[in-house]
Amino acid sequence: LLRDLGTSISPFNAFLIEQGIETLSLRIERHVQNAQEIAEWLENHDDIASVNYSGLPSSPWYAAANRYAPKGVGAVLSFEASRRMRMGHVAMVSKVVSDREVLLTHANWSRRGGIERDVRAVDGVSFDIKPGETLCLVGESGCGKSTLMRLLTALEKPDTGHIVFDGEDIFGRGRAGTRRFRREVQLVLQDPFGSLPPQSSIGEIISEPLVIHNEGDRRQRRTRALDMMGEVGLDRSLYESLPTRLTAGQRQRVNVARAMILEPRLMIMDETLSALDQTEQSRLIDLFERLQAQHGFTYLFISHDIALVRRVCARIAVMYLGEVVELAANERLFFNPGHPYSKALLSAAPTLEDRRYRPEDCLLEGEPPSPIDLPPGCAFASRCPSAFDRCRKINPQPVYRGDHDRAACHLLQPEPVAS
Ligand code: SF4
Repeated sequence: LLRDLGTSISPFNAFLIEQGIETLSLRIERHVQNAQEIAEWLENHDDIASVNYSGLPSSPWYAAANRYAPKGVGAVLSFEASRRMRMGHVAMVSKVVSDREVLLTHANWSRRGGIERDVRAVDGVSFDIKPGETLCLVGESGCGKSTLMRLLTALEKPDTGHIVFDGEDIFGRGRAGTRRFRREVQLVLQDPFGSLPPQSSIGEIISEPLVIHNEGDRRQRRTRALDMMGEVGLDRSLYESLPTRLTAGQRQRVNVARAMILEPRLMIMDETLSALDQTEQSRLIDLFERLQAQHGFTYLFISHDIALVRRVCARIAVMYLGEVVELAANERLFFNPGHPYSKALLSAAPTLEDRRYRPEDCLLEGEPPSPIDLPPGCAFASRCPSAFDRCRKINPQPVYRGDHDRAACHLLQPEPVAS
């Protein structure tokens, strides 16, 4: 009935977040008669633990969903979705939490939801992105990339610290400022099939951000959407087509066109190329480079695929259990990595054409420790072939290698000078 789209950016979603409510977006996958169906689906879905809907205005749909939902489980449907609810539309269900999500959600949820676990999703993460640059966040699944993406798109607030965009804290801008920020930062998601509403035409999908931001009349939006189609290499005759007719690569081009239409300054590519074959990946990488040269876009790629990162990014941040353990320019990371985890990632990438490390050089064994109960010292110590006593007691601080590159490992600490 419903497909989990992860978190999406929309005015309603922004509204929920401003109320302190985290959201997941669920796309309605088949025709539904009323909110009861959705509520029953929620009831029967094992993963759903709780939902927070306090403080929201009511509507008949909202009331119905909550009436049919089991005790302690409720649903909030956006007014927009509820008025024209049918297949392909997106209903917002606020803070549906699965076990997996709890692990990835940072500690402030425990204050609201009453889950008394101190979960560290990302911790002490610090990096900057320069205008026109391509930076990549790479790491295994569960390393905190998704949480970081939600923080960077202002979908979650950090417990401590700041996210500064163009000199301003993104959470200190007021409602209008946050809305402006969400326009300047656009997200392209991974799933080329699930991320496009099957009942909407390509033209409607691409021009939707203009509708949301109330820009232009119908004719202007059409012209703009057609321009975007040309920019991303989509045949304009597809304007009235449904996405079901498109290949995976064409669908991702639609996603890119939709993200571009508001002329954002930062594009976040969340595993955008992962579901494509190598040929299509190469074509899209060429497209991204051309668009960057023409429009000056800044890209943040989020990926688990280090071979792909090698081809795309100028600088790379390697994440492990919620921390950036190494940040380095592309050449340095691939030919002279500083952190044992970076070496392990490189050695485990069979498709890396010019790799220096073989699996036998740095075996990555075992599972990462639970983020709920992290041991003291370096978080990588239980899997690190170079770990020594100090690693299990003291968390290593970043050591700079040159002006900008850094890695957090005791092996890089300079030897104490003998007196
Ligand atoms: Fe390995 Fe120790 Fe460096 Fe951590 S600090 S990566 S355990 S050598």
